[in-house]
Amino acid sequence: MGGRATDADVLVVGAGPVGLAAATHARAAGLDVLVVDRRAGTLDKACGEGLLPGALRAVRELGADPPGHPLTGISYRAPGRNADHRFAAGPGRGVRRTTLHAALRARAADVGAGFVHARVTALRQGAAGVEVELADAGDRHPGTLRARWVLGCDGLHSTVRRLAGLDVRPGWGGDRPSRRRYGLRRHFRVAPWTDLVEVHWSPHAEAYVTPVAPDVVGVALLAPRAVSAAGFDTLLRSQFPELAARLGAAEAGPLLGAGPLRRRSVRRTAGQVRLVGDASGYVDALTGEGVRVGLAQAAAVVRHLDDAAAYERAWRTATRDYRALTTGLVAWASSPARGAIVPAAARLPRLYGAVVERLAR
Ligand SMILES: Cc1cc2nc3c(=O)[nH]c(=O)nc-3n(C[C@H](O)[C@H](O)[C@H](O)COP(=O)(O)OP(=O)(O)OC[C@H]3O[C@@H](n4cnc5c(N)ncnc54)[C@H](O)[C@@H]3O)c2cc1C
Repeated sequence: MGGRATDADVLVVGAGPVGLAAATHARAAGLDVLVVDRRAGTLDKACGEGLLPGALRAVRELGADPPGHPLTGISYRAPGRNADHRFAAGPGRGVRRTTLHAALRARAADVGAGFVHARVTALRQGAAGVEVELADAGDRHPGTLRARWVLGCDGLHSTVRRLAGLDVRPGWGGDRPSRRRYGLRRHFRVAPWTDLVEVHWSPHAEAYVTPVAPDVVGVALLAPRAVSAAGFDTLLRSQFPELAARLGAAEAGPLLGAGPLRRRSVRRTAGQVRLVGDASGYVDALTGEGVRVGLAQAAAVVRHLDDAAAYERAWRTATRDYRALTTGLVAWASSPARGAIVPAAARLPRLYGAVVERLAR
């Protein structure tokens, strides 16, 4: 790399919630910021769409306040059994991903972040920073961009993670086909019947039900395989008949999927490249914490841009509880004792409440 000056101090790859939050923090720190995403317009994603209270607080601290449906707690449910806990410190919010994206993007644009619609395909590091190659960029953009730092906020299947040599080799333990899990989401046009996030447990899958608007409820299925829209309906009816009956003949929206969910990185930093959010590693959607944990990383990476080791430490601190709790719960859910989860939550309300409060932080 040499010659041309940099195009920005910070190049954020990925305009998901984490990339937009990192861009907003970097602007607040007085840095020039460009955000690149391969998709244009208002971005959607397979997501349970529950902003638990801590995530909602972090979104508001960024200066955004997306509308949605209040979430007052979490209900674990199995036929004939349920365990409900209401958040002690006020509600979270069910927010459509498109609404969340629009609010965070508007905020990042308001504070002066620039946006480029292109796909990052290659990355070179030099003394002056990082040069990325772009594909599918419009006429107004060169095929490359240069920045002092590149933040890889490009999600589960991060290109930046691979290009920076931070991918864990394929086939590692957690990625064995038998251990893979997928997330699938559809919306149903029906008035919410609850202010709780309902997590329905069947023998083979979980269904996350999140009210997101006065007439829309999102259902995210977490299952060991990806399915088509018809497969989603079959899974819903066969595994969750009570929930399927509630949804009745409500009009269903398109299916979005994600997975395999579990991803790892060897480290979070390589030279001037940093991994943030799902790109830095992901355990599972079972605890509904991705946005909160990702936003904490976005704040930390900007705070420690000049100190890779400090970001690595901050990343561990921000993700420690999530990694431990979610890994433990997925292990339990994948074991022969899976059927004991909801009865245990119902029998031990103080313990269940403490876990929910931890998720709500
Ligand atoms: C089924 C499911 C349910 C979930 N439920 C919840 C929940 O209820 N609450 C919660 O907090 N979290 C939940 N999560 C987790 C949450 O969705 C993620 O943690 C969160 O979206 C991570 O944000 P991100 O910005 O890191 O990545 P993403 O939102 O995935 O954004 C990555 C962006 O990078 C872009 N990109 C990718 N590659 C490139 C490239 N080469 N060049 C340019 N751009 C690129 C993509 O287009 C995308 O816009 C759930 C996840 C799943 C799968």
